[in-house]
Amino acid sequence: MLKIDLHVHTWYSDSRASVKEVIDEARRKGLNGIAITDHNTMDALKDAKRLKGNLIIIPGEEVWTCQGEILALGIRKPIRKGLRIMDAIRRVHSQNGIVIIPHPTIPIFSRIKEETLRKLPIDGIEAFSAMTPLPRYFLKKNINLALRLKLPIVAGSDSHFKETVGDAYTIIDSKSSCIEDILDAIKLGKTKIGCKPSSWKFKVKIAPGIMISLLKTPLTYKSYLANRIY
Ligand SMILES: [Zn+2]
Repeated sequence: MLKIDLHVHTWYSDSRASVKEVIDEARRKGLNGIAITDHNTMDALKDAKRLKGNLIIIPGEEVWTCQGEILALGIRKPIRKGLRIMDAIRRVHSQNGIVIIPHPTIPIFSRIKEETLRKLPIDGIEAFSAMTPLPRYFLKKNINLALRLKLPIVAGSDSHFKETVGDAYTIIDSKSSCIEDILDAIKLGKTKIGCKPSSWKFKVKIAPGIMISLLKTPLTYKSYLANRIY
């Protein structure tokens, strides 16, 4: 069994934590690995490869698409932002990566409707993100969504601070620590989630940044509402 936080940001996007701090904290919390999922960039990977030691690093990206964000895990090259969601998913799959929908039922973070999710070839649902407001409520909602969609569940910290790395993680029954085996195990639903919500201290710190990014893009968000797949 591997304990991996599948949703971690670094200062290469909007986290306050360096790659070294993230890796050190993951080790301190006893994780086997992390997925680095910065917003629309994979620049942290070069530092992570140098610093990882025996920690598993899953290369990833939180990709902004016209219909909402996706987590791309196990990719080799970044997927550019602003694509239609189906195009972005195809590009992830063409790199043998997998697609997880992060924080799927929280209105301010995700606007992809269930009927849309049902038509998309996604590989899993993030049932718990440690930065979620009302954690119990959204955990239940997300698990019910995953059950209805018959999709595996995962968890991640969505960490934007070093202290919150590993607050949530996925327990993966993988036959080895190879990334391909880990991704296969996730796709097969050999996952459980381990989680506690991050402290409100950190949720409050990140709130202004979220509000600014939403205010910056009011027009762009109109495209979410269209919610077209193709
Ligand atoms: Zn995130």
